[in-house]
Amino acid sequence: MSEEQESILRAHGIKAIFSDGSSHEGALLVGLDGAHSAVRATLCPAHPKPDPLPVHLLGLELTLTRAQIAPLIAMDPVVMLGDSPFGICGFFAVLASPEVTAPPEGAPGVPEGNDARIALLRERLSHMWREMRDAVEGSITPETTINTLTIADWVVPDEGWDNLGGRVTLAGDAAHTMTMFRGEGFNNAVLDVANLVSTISEIYSTPTVDEDKRAALITEYDAELCDRSPRVVIASRQQCFMIHDWEKYEAWTKASQWGAPHQKV
Ligand SMILES: Cc1cc2nc3c(=O)[nH]c(=O)nc-3n(C[C@H](O)[C@H](O)[C@H](O)COP(=O)(O)OP(=O)(O)OC[C@H]3O[C@@H](n4cnc5c(N)ncnc54)[C@H](O)[C@@H]3O)c2cc1C
Repeated sequence: MSEEQESILRAHGIKAIFSDGSSHEGALLVGLDGAHSAVRATLCPAHPKPDPLPVHLLGLELTLTRAQIAPLIAMDPVVMLGDSPFGICGFFAVLASPEVTAPPEGAPGVPEGNDARIALLRERLSHMWREMRDAVEGSITPETTINTLTIADWVVPDEGWDNLGGRVTLAGDAAHTMTMFRGEGFNNAVLDVANLVSTISEIYSTPTVDEDKRAALITEYDAELCDRSPRVVIASRQQCFMIHDWEKYEAWTKASQWGAPHQKV
């Protein structure tokens, strides 16, 4: 147990200390604070942050007219991922529309200046499928801000984490930061929360918290999570690399019993 972990232990629970100096004590602390979780950094001090992968994302938020977006939503009304033989993949997601109802900073390999980022995005788009290229290219102006994100993931260490006698655990991206290429992060977060709600209901099924029972139940919750999460994080990492390697991706889609994406089998 680290000194920091010891300092937050209380006889019957845990003390959370916030950056503004305030604090709160309770029976259980759940780290649901996303990919850069502060709770995870306390539980796993030897491996606190996501590991950057050699993949970078250029992203922008566009307001498109119905005519501009029509070719994209004809492919999919909400979200679509497409590959290109140049090891570049294009991804769009409709954040808001009349039918379907919002950026981080800094990444190595991506220029600092916005003009240079626009030039890089235009060059990448020149290799992209027509519908994607036209919808984005036609909307970029010198004022458009291009955001960037280093793709990173976090695999739980083999030894898991010390849940401090069932006082602290993790859920969601804090427990399994993964790339977005299999679209499974939120799904896994929902499963974590469903499992956690059952666990917490069981802990509080008696008027007073039985600490041994809490420790056993949270350990059981952690065990399922630590068994499932490395598989999904690694699968998403493999998908991330695959979608940036045209030859492998093409061979895989041809061999797949499902056929190429958006192709009838
Ligand atoms: C481009 C993209 C596409 C995706 N597509 C899909 C998809 O198709 N399907 C899918 O299942 N998943 C997808 N995901 C993943 C999904 O968005 C995440 O897995 C999900 O949002 C994780 O939820 P979370 O609550 O664990 O973390 P988050 O959504 O990151 O929420 C964490 C919250 O904690 C807050 N927080 C963090 N630190 C602190 C602090 N110190 N104090 C107070 N608050 C704090 C944050 O502000 C945030 O509100 C995608 C992700 C990206 C980036």
